[in-house]
Amino acid sequence: NMNLLERIDDYTWTIPLKVGEKRSGIRLYGSEPLLKSMDDKVLEQITNVATLPGLVGEAMTMPDAHWGYGFPIGGVAAFDAEEGGIISAGGVGFDISCGIRCLRTNLMREDLTSTDLTKLADELSRAIPAGVGREGKLRLTLDELDDVLRGGAQWAIHHGYGLGEDLSFVEEMGKMQGARPENISRLAKERQLGEVGTLGSGNHYLEVQEVAKIYDEKAAEAFGIKKGQIVVSIHCGSRALGHQIGTEYLVSLAKAATRLGISLPDRELACAPIHSPEGQEYIGAMNAAINCAMANRQVLTHMTRNAFECLFKGVKIETLYDVSHNTCKEETHLVNGVERNLWVHRKGATRAFGPGHPDIPVRYRSVGQPVIIGGSMGTGSYILAGTKEGEERAFSSASHGAGRAMSRHQALKLWKGKQVIQELAQKGILIRSASMRGVAEEAPDAYKDVDLVAQATEKAGLARRVAFLRPKVCIKG
Ligand code: 5GP
Ligand code: MN
Ligand code: MN
Repeated sequence: NMNLLERIDDYTWTIPLKVGEKRSGIRLYGSEPLLKSMDDKVLEQITNVATLPGLVGEAMTMPDAHWGYGFPIGGVAAFDAEEGGIISAGGVGFDISCGIRCLRTNLMREDLTSTDLTKLADELSRAIPAGVGREGKLRLTLDELDDVLRGGAQWAIHHGYGLGEDLSFVEEMGKMQGARPENISRLAKERQLGEVGTLGSGNHYLEVQEVAKIYDEKAAEAFGIKKGQIVVSIHCGSRALGHQIGTEYLVSLAKAATRLGISLPDRELACAPIHSPEGQEYIGAMNAAINCAMANRQVLTHMTRNAFECLFKGVKIETLYDVSHNTCKEETHLVNGVERNLWVHRKGATRAFGPGHPDIPVRYRSVGQPVIIGGSMGTGSYILAGTKEGEERAFSSASHGAGRAMSRHQALKLWKGKQVIQELAQKGILIRSASMRGVAEEAPDAYKDVDLVAQATEKAGLARRVAFLRPKVCIKG
């Protein structure tokens, strides 16, 4: 890896152009050890991304980057529609709008006995539909699902799943404009009818966490958290719907690329100009999937509140923030001092607007947008805040997790689910999961060191650390 890379500073790297090579620039953010441990495929994939038409600035990877389908996970790329810029389904990811909603409670760690935590784990695992194919409490008709796809989290609130005040703390007030359910196949919708309000499997989780460390008192105060407080993080996306859209649009975008003579170094980069019919069609479908994911996390928030209420009468649970890490969104960014309208792909990367940005809730505006990153069920997670610098360095983007250190297949060879659960229980972390195989694949050591990722994210100027969250209860999909 390292002999392909050139250091710009301690946390910024590039791949120099070879003689005769035609492509845009590349930036990889992260410390030397993180870049050393990154799979070679990331470098190949980001080099491919840098050849795409209409790319503005550089093709970038975040400190948690790892290999993905076409684009690396942890990849960021911005395109100008007026200059032939493209949209790519592989640049969004299959789990469209996968993201994390963080809730703050008014409970403190010291208020909870170990019996409380056990009861909470059991109650949450009863209340939260998780795992492959486990259906939710909602059974929708196709027409109702179309309403979900148009209304997002606002649909959920109107149907009694949550509180109106949640919406101020969800991107786009919980409803993405420009959603076109009519651009989504019947099959994709049918697969989703029983899955609204479900967690999904594998890497998706609902975790009760303790705020274990505060890095930035002022930002923590704005975010309404303090040391010892109990918070809940919900990580899930658009479930079967998003996957089916991704699968179907890869085909139509690949056809469009061929028709329009866009040469692709890798078939997996299938894309179409933003202004093309296929590009527009995908954007409408993607926006609907974003609404599906936001509605999902809203319904799960409601179920979480009910589960807590069963055990802790009168508990107060508020949405701290809900942010996606698999999207392509139209945003204005300053490029060399000029304001431009760009389509920013963030695949396994979190939007991270800096202080003062009008899309940040007023309550947080002076400190920056909350950036929520997962770690693992055994180590911990972080809340960061967007920075001014991040705008110029990465179109306001930051890491989204620790990133895998090995494949699921490798993890299965090293661990057994039962043993992982026992070891975590000894550390006071309760896991509930229907899949022992899933738990083994998700063993804490299958992920990179989240502390190193959060630190590198801060040192690279992408976002600054606000709080470290330690897991107490994890409901694994
Ligand atoms: P992804 O969206 O790429 O599937 O996952 C995002 C990140 O979530 C991963 O990179 C990983 O660091 C983190 N993660 C996966 N499983 C868990 C978990 O059970 N608990 C926590 N806190 N983080 C997790
Ligand atoms: Mn995710
Ligand atoms: Mn996901």
